Amino acid sequence: MEQECWGRIRSELLSLLGKDAFTNWIDPLKLLEAGGRVAQFSVPTSFIGNWVSRNYGESILGMLQAEGLKVDRLDFRTVSAARPAPDVARIAAKVAPVVDLPGSPLDTRCTFESFVVGKPNELAHAAARRVAEGGQVTFNPLFLYGGVGLGKTHLMHAIAWETKALRPESRVLYLSAEQFMYRFVQALRFKDMHSFKEQFRSVDVLMVDDVQFIAGKNSTQDEFFHTFNALVDQGKQIVISADRAPGEIEGLEERIRSRLQWGLVVDLHPTDYELRLGILQSKSETQLKTMPDVQMDAGVLEFLAHRISSNVRVLEGALTRLFAFASLVGREINLDMTQECLADILRASERKVTVEEIMRQVADHYNLRMSDLLSPRRARSVARPRQVAMFLSKMLTSKSLPDIGRRFGGRDHTTVIHAVKKVEELKMTDSQIAEDVELLRRMLEA
Ligand code: ADP
Ligand code: MG
Repeated sequence: MEQECWGRIRSELLSLLGKDAFTNWIDPLKLLEAGGRVAQFSVPTSFIGNWVSRNYGESILGMLQAEGLKVDRLDFRTVSAARPAPDVARIAAKVAPVVDLPGSPLDTRCTFESFVVGKPNELAHAAARRVAEGGQVTFNPLFLYGGVGLGKTHLMHAIAWETKALRPESRVLYLSAEQFMYRFVQALRFKDMHSFKEQFRSVDVLMVDDVQFIAGKNSTQDEFFHTFNALVDQGKQIVISADRAPGEIEGLEERIRSRLQWGLVVDLHPTDYELRLGILQSKSETQLKTMPDVQMDAGVLEFLAHRISSNVRVLEGALTRLFAFASLVGREINLDMTQECLADILRASERKVTVEEIMRQVADHYNLRMSDLLSPRRARSVARPRQVAMFLSKMLTSKSLPDIGRRFGGRDHTTVIHAVKKVEELKMTDSQIAEDVELLRRMLEA
């Protein structure tokens, strides 16, 4: 009965908020129970819980009461992932003293738990999980490739942590291709090839990051090839990453190239809007834990997810700076502060959408002429589209409020502020507007 009520409320919220907001915030909620005057929800992250509570809490409570449920409070409980996270600190402390393997250190922040999965990386993530689970080696090597900052190194570290958590006795060696070469050259120099070979051939999982680095370095490539074959013959797992597909790495020997292609080759695609938003949510939740006083406005994460390019490292940097700035000067993080604080990053990843293009698209969409948007007419049929166009100009370009106002027939910046607020409100309550805005944004960004 409770679940049926919740089902009806969900559909109501879907039409009220639009598909985007619904997917981001409402869909992850599960109603656990509604008794003892408290409606208890489970949420995947406390960030989502706080957000929903702050932005939609009252509406949801009202709707539950309207359904006849006797509740006067909502409670959001964070449910952790089905499997407990490996205690990386404990593992690190335990394995560190016995590590005689010449690997690179592992970042304790890079685990599967902190990796946000979306369409662009789901295959790579699934393959990495499979490798970490162990068992029969089904694809060897696992070859991960993709542009900079898309999570290749993160996934490799996650494999290492998970493997060590599940099978503490297994020997996992992670290192960059550059380090592989360095070790190799050292071994040659000190005539220590025997122990070099031994070390590398005694591992259960070998991971070599950024393998494009050894292309063209012939004796290193040779040694890599022999190590590789020796491990494959013993049924040991190999994981390789590179910034491009094996076939596209210049200077790579043909036999190595074809050997790399025997396994499973998966690419990490550039992030899309949904993945960026998910990553921003997850990372700001972590930040908020250490800076509980910082306040963040609704819409800031969406803005960043729209405006910052696909590289996750850049996203992280932006967020870190925002939080540092907010806590230093004691200001809440809102849209204006974000634009000011991140001006350089925003400029660098600017999509070239102009205010004129926005006007043209909006006018087209609502069957108006561009001159209508510039005119002083205040009829709803013209004023609404004008507000939508102003909102999109603020979201998609880095023009200042006065500048945007001027382009819309010489209006004042306060008119633009009002338009932005109005459309933000309408997006929550009017699904038609929410859809229009979303559609226009997609067309403009395409
Ligand atoms: P690459 O090795 O592909 O250049 P990294 O693995 O170093 O990229 O990722 C860059 C940064 O972005 C790291 O701090 C990493 O933790 C983070 N990152 C990348 N993808 C994700 C993701 N899907 N979820 C969470 N963090 C991510
Ligand atoms: Mg990397």
